[in-house]
Amino acid sequence: MTKDNYDKRNFLFFINETHPVSIEDSLTGALASPSSWDAVAAIVNTARQQDAFVRSIKKVQLYVHVPFCGRLCSFCHCLRVLLRQRSDIDAYIKTLLRQMMLLAPAYKGMDAASICFGGGTPSILDEPQMTAILDGVDKAFPARNRKVLFEVNPSSWTASKLALLSNRGLFRLSIGVQSLDENILKKVSRFQTRQKSLWCLRSARKAGIPHVNVDLIAGLPGQTVKGLIKDLKVVIDEGANIVHVQPYSSLSQLFSPGETPFDFLNRRDAMMKAAAEILVESGFHRKGFGAYTRDDGGEDFQEEAYSRLEAAVAAFGPFAKGQVPGAVFYRVGTASPMADLPSVDVSVQDFGYAMAQYAMFALINGLDENVFFRRFGVPLEQHCGEGLKYLQEFGLVAFSKGIWKFSGKWEVRRIFEYAALSRALFGEDFLLRLRERFIKQYDPRQDYSKGRAFFRAYADNWLMTLYYQMGV
Ligand code: SF4
Repeated sequence: MTKDNYDKRNFLFFINETHPVSIEDSLTGALASPSSWDAVAAIVNTARQQDAFVRSIKKVQLYVHVPFCGRLCSFCHCLRVLLRQRSDIDAYIKTLLRQMMLLAPAYKGMDAASICFGGGTPSILDEPQMTAILDGVDKAFPARNRKVLFEVNPSSWTASKLALLSNRGLFRLSIGVQSLDENILKKVSRFQTRQKSLWCLRSARKAGIPHVNVDLIAGLPGQTVKGLIKDLKVVIDEGANIVHVQPYSSLSQLFSPGETPFDFLNRRDAMMKAAAEILVESGFHRKGFGAYTRDDGGEDFQEEAYSRLEAAVAAFGPFAKGQVPGAVFYRVGTASPMADLPSVDVSVQDFGYAMAQYAMFALINGLDENVFFRRFGVPLEQHCGEGLKYLQEFGLVAFSKGIWKFSGKWEVRRIFEYAALSRALFGEDFLLRLRERFIKQYDPRQDYSKGRAFFRAYADNWLMTLYYQMGV
């Protein structure tokens, strides 16, 4: 294969690959060394007293990570551990509750009206364990009519868990269906029946849960466009009002047998495209990459926290990310979820980055100069006018009637690409430094799509997109 062909294939792979790097990592730079929960609380407290912008944030969203899984699916990039004994969960809950009690005072006075359980597999908790966490949350963050958002794996979800959570404010249930085809699921070490997945969906609708989300994957080994569309039609008919379709990108088993990387990418792209068409035809609106909601599907809580900067996030569990926009970003830094009281990585979040974060997300639907000024008291032109013009030159954003928007020439597909673009918006120096590093490290003889390259571990893949765009 010639260098050009390798380059093209690697390029396609990188722009399509999901990546474990989060927006916060990109926005806050290297995290400080492990610190204590007191340090987080102190930074939040100081910022809340001193900073008018931070004082304007009146809401805090709670997030609890449940890292345990009964089996490990081969496609998964989440932070998860195989559950060995159920008593490990009890030990973990003790740690969680201690973290909450230490951190809660820093958020005092903020409205903690929602809690999101993610994983791992939150549905692996039994009823007493769910009750213990929810009671602990009520004690640490008292709130009236709290909304509970909960992720389930169909294999561990039961009628009594649904009943318990319905009584505790279950507002959104996210069902990890992935595919309704049991044979396809087996290929990625996921074992649940079609019948059980559909029961989860139907029973949630019957129980009157307002928002029922179904997660599906496009591009699984052996999956076809026809098969995905069939699944989508069923979940839409059964009443899902939020659907996420994520592109498959397993590090261990990427392709169907006999499939080349190009075949795989084409098959997966065709599925993403077909899914978008069917969802839009069925009355869903696109909310982000792979995310669709119907009018009754409600707001996206995560988006509310991260993009509109109207809410802080208090997050508990390994690598769960908490923040107060413009003040502090933190996450538990230990690899062991059961550590007695795990240390926490904390970094002070720059207000400029908070604005960047806002601008970057706003670019998806339109970044309005007037709205930006009203929100931050700084003209957009002054804050990132140069960066926007720089991106405009490369056709990445377009400007019309006071509104900047990602340009149709370029589909920004991944959260790290938004982060990368925001850095381009806010500092060409940074971009140049990364570009130099990339040029030094990139070996055109390698086929990175085979999965050994160190690139997977870094956020540099976005850079390859710019490398091609700019013809470096
Ligand atoms: S159950 Fe969910 S979190 Fe656990 S390995 Fe499978 S996909 Fe990942």
